[in-house]
Amino acid sequence: MIIFWEEKEIKDCRTLMLAVVVLRLLQSGVSVDAWGADGHHATCLLAEPLLAPATLKAVRSLLPEYAKGSLASLCTWPDDIKWQHQWRWTSPLHYIDTPDFLCRYNYLRDCHNEYGDKDMCVSGAINNFTSQLTSFQLPLDLAAPYLMTKHDHPNHYNLTEATLFLAHFVGDIHQPLHVGFTSDAGGNTISVHWYKRKYNLHHIWDSELINTAKQRFYNSSLSVMVDAILLKIGGKWVGETKSWGACANHGISCPDVYAAESISLACKYAYRNATPGSRLADEYFLSRLPIVERRLAQGGVRLAFILNRLFAQTSDSLINQK
Ligand SMILES: [Zn+2]
Repeated sequence: MIIFWEEKEIKDCRTLMLAVVVLRLLQSGVSVDAWGADGHHATCLLAEPLLAPATLKAVRSLLPEYAKGSLASLCTWPDDIKWQHQWRWTSPLHYIDTPDFLCRYNYLRDCHNEYGDKDMCVSGAINNFTSQLTSFQLPLDLAAPYLMTKHDHPNHYNLTEATLFLAHFVGDIHQPLHVGFTSDAGGNTISVHWYKRKYNLHHIWDSELINTAKQRFYNSSLSVMVDAILLKIGGKWVGETKSWGACANHGISCPDVYAAESISLACKYAYRNATPGSRLADEYFLSRLPIVERRLAQGGVRLAFILNRLFAQTSDSLINQK
């Protein structure tokens, strides 16, 4: 079971410094090669250049040494482990099932697992891991890579796992069909043709829209695609990024907002003209790709805002005391 405790109220973090985007673009060159994981890699790669220096330090202090300071390299970890016996309880934390054709989400009604245990959905998981991470304190030796373990921390939370879960689930909740209809399991039972191949609709939104975009527009490279989205974040979307990152009442994260957007987009774009057996090609691809890119951007920007709220304040004050 996951455990909740009251969120501390913290001051809203500094606004995004988008000049950093351009700087990081020049420094980029991260290579990624995992198929089916591109959406998560993209979300984390988009967030990383937007992290405040203190946030980056805190996140890196929580990553295992083999991650070599790259959050993106472990953003698929929750998908990798969810089939293992001891992690099976986390499977319902990747999505939300909403009532068929309602196109609306309600936390109290929808956020539960198949046994009716409440809070066991992607929105509840983001709340939970956000709360766990408010207990973070930067180790005194800032230079040393530090893997927090259950026994290291006074509250007995594993904050490395909490960080990886949070980064992953912020990605998931922005994929419109991760907040889908109950009877088709978010499009998983809707079989369609994607150009010449057969997939389920959920997989098309998880992977094929991004794959096709990479091949057609981005030199088959996720890094090139991510860089193009970063330019849009610092360009045509720059006026919107602050509102993307904002949460009401000084909240650190606000997953109910992200979930409500997703089911609305699922109805408007994902399910539309994608009935079982339909053939999806350019008309569907070209009209849906802008939605996918915008959701990746929102996921990345929001992940950065959340991590900055969690870590920049704490880390800054500790650094200032030194
Ligand atoms: Zn997932």
